[in-house]
Amino acid sequence: QNTLAKVDPELWQAIEAENRRQEDHIELIASENYVSAAVMEAQGSQLTNKYAEGYPGKRYYGGCEFVDLAEQLAIDRLKTLFGAEAANVQPNSGSQANQAVLMAFAKPGDTIMGMSLAEGGHLTHGMPLNMSGKWFNVVAYGLDKNEEIDYDKMEALAREHKPRIIIAGASAYALRIDFERFAKIAKEIGAIFWVDMAHYAGLIAAGYYPNPVPHADVVTSTTHKTLRGPRGGIILMKAEHEKALNSAIFPGLQGGPLMHVIAAKAVAFKEAAEPEFKRYQEQVLANARVMARVLGEERGLRIVSGRTESHVFLVDLQSKNITGKEAEAALGRAHITVNKNSIPNDPQKPFVTSGIRLGSPAMTTRGFTEIEAERIAHLIADVLDNPNDEAITENVRAKVAELCRKFPVYGA
Ligand code: PLP
Repeated sequence: QNTLAKVDPELWQAIEAENRRQEDHIELIASENYVSAAVMEAQGSQLTNKYAEGYPGKRYYGGCEFVDLAEQLAIDRLKTLFGAEAANVQPNSGSQANQAVLMAFAKPGDTIMGMSLAEGGHLTHGMPLNMSGKWFNVVAYGLDKNEEIDYDKMEALAREHKPRIIIAGASAYALRIDFERFAKIAKEIGAIFWVDMAHYAGLIAAGYYPNPVPHADVVTSTTHKTLRGPRGGIILMKAEHEKALNSAIFPGLQGGPLMHVIAAKAVAFKEAAEPEFKRYQEQVLANARVMARVLGEERGLRIVSGRTESHVFLVDLQSKNITGKEAEAALGRAHITVNKNSIPNDPQKPFVTSGIRLGSPAMTTRGFTEIEAERIAHLIADVLDNPNDEAITENVRAKVAELCRKFPVYGA
């Protein structure tokens, strides 16, 4: 029997139950993934015991010689992976990485410009209830009538409001973002150009989505979405900004970095440089495309933006007279995990919504290919067509169980 089960059976049971849930549900939350056993081993290591305020070679604590090696490996691998001049691997989360950019480049009251949350942006890009929205004057851009980023409007707003920082990046946008176009207007008005590539990082590392690093002053990301690392954040930057951004993370926002997580990040960056990771991201794209095609062309649902060019897409549920909240619950009963998501011009409140967001990173990690993606899309549509039919739910749940048994995540 393992030690945790003996020391804390209550907690162990919760972990075991979550482990089973991850094995026997189909995970379609676009921001989630399953890390490798090696990543978990690093994260569960003795490095959790170590204080290491500061940066490699410049610490405020003794005994840092080995965690220095781990952090330097993470930094060097990350720089190579994305072709960055400098990198910080200490942010505890994507949100903290984003706070550091605001802290380094703007003062409260300054104007910043980001994509509106309602049209696909992230809350740390200026949502009114987030620090980014409370402390800064936010100008938001959004989508055009084709549900693509309205670049003309974004440029006009930038010229009119002259924001200190222009932010590109999204949590619910299926298409490629034209980072060069953002960079051009930022340069023209003298703004800092910041890209939050959290959702697309894995695709970018594999070369299947435009790399913002050559164009941006600073690029932030999470490490746990398509990049398939531990939960956490990172910052990539031009060398000229390294001092300001490093100081914003420590001592600006954080104390001791999570060295065990940094070690796990190092492992994930190594994995992301392997040829197998490129094949994985190819399959991520293929699986998302198949699901969007089946739902959009064969099962009568509207795909926001009309298609996907990434791992993620939004489904407009209005034709089925079901809300995002109801769809999430109905699919959950069938052991398919998704999240409700606002669609552009959504008549429903953000807690209800008219859409769901689907993503292929986790299902692809467990080995599903186009064949399973097609079956899963049909299962989703079966549930959405009959959300309150117990027999159909039961039937879908049985098929989900069969698929999950055939493709175990961590084995057994
Ligand atoms: N940036 C984007 C674009 C995201 O989608 C997310 C997570 O959902 C974050 C930042 C925040 O990351 P975290 O949840 O690690 O704070």
